[in-house]
Amino acid sequence: MKTILVTGGTGFLGSNLCIRLVREGNRVICVDNNYTGRLENVAEIADNPNFCFIKHDICDPLEINNEKIDEIYNMACPASPPAYQGSYSIKTTKTCVFGAINMLELAKKHGARILQTSTSEVYGDPLVHPQVETYRGNVNPIGIRACYDEGKRCAESLFFDYHRHEGVDIKVIRIFNTYGPKMDPNDGRVVSNFICQALTGEDITIYGDGSQTRSFCYVDDLIEAMVRMMNSEKGFTGPVNTGNPGEFTIKELAEKVVAKIGGSSKVIYKDLPSDDPTQRRPDITLAKAKLGWEPKIQLDEGLDKTIAYFKTQINLFKKAEK
Ligand code: UDP
Repeated sequence: MKTILVTGGTGFLGSNLCIRLVREGNRVICVDNNYTGRLENVAEIADNPNFCFIKHDICDPLEINNEKIDEIYNMACPASPPAYQGSYSIKTTKTCVFGAINMLELAKKHGARILQTSTSEVYGDPLVHPQVETYRGNVNPIGIRACYDEGKRCAESLFFDYHRHEGVDIKVIRIFNTYGPKMDPNDGRVVSNFICQALTGEDITIYGDGSQTRSFCYVDDLIEAMVRMMNSEKGFTGPVNTGNPGEFTIKELAEKVVAKIGGSSKVIYKDLPSDDPTQRRPDITLAKAKLGWEPKIQLDEGLDKTIAYFKTQINLFKKAEK
């Protein structure tokens, strides 16, 4: 049995990972400040004796003295553009940078392997398409996305310096747009927005003309890639792109969601936020070669599963309002 610490463990991806790791028989220490994470995301494992939750902000150092940690997944960070572009912007940079230092120090102390969940945002508004890991990116350092993009870039540099100079066993993945159960219905991302809008009969809000593209990965596929990367051969650090190369315009996504849910929603167009990337698609050649991984669930199937999840959430939400 391994002891695995997951930061951001009550968030969308973190909670899906914690549940999988506990079900596979590991001891899981879930760390989160619950700023954007939600305890109900881990409710199904909360009573499991192999699971524990520590409410902690990784901007502060974390000491674990009563048990030896084998692996750390560092996932804590506001990840939704409306969150990190709003009141969490400075907190986002702090979480990326101080959080990385604190978790790398913890890994060093325990001799633990540590995986950093980096992001496709390190490529900014990419001038190379699809994006390969060797592409160095096109980030506006003073724009509204910079706190996240530059924060994650700085975290990558910290990981590699701790690897080079302190001998820490690191793994770095770059996660592309991911969706699925346990997304926060209110976090403002495109898949959750469109589905919730369609389910409640509100207007579907396309930002810009909807010609920008994203490549959407279903959460189970992403978690599989993450676990494979953690268990990959020693010395293979990455970074590795993890995402689904199926590329869609935002307009196509809106059409798919409307076709699946029906209802009275109409599509409306709103201003495109500044620095919103024009196109994004991962080149996953490296993940295929090194991890033997590629996504299995394509957008139509994944959307069906996600719509089913949001239906349960909206019912609960409405009940709570009464
Ligand atoms: N978007 C949109 N309508 C929404 C939310 C987002 O058109 O209600 C667009 C957004 O401008 C971006 C894309 O959808 O071009 C993906 O946005 P998201 O926030 O999900 O992720 P990002 O890739 O920007 O981090």
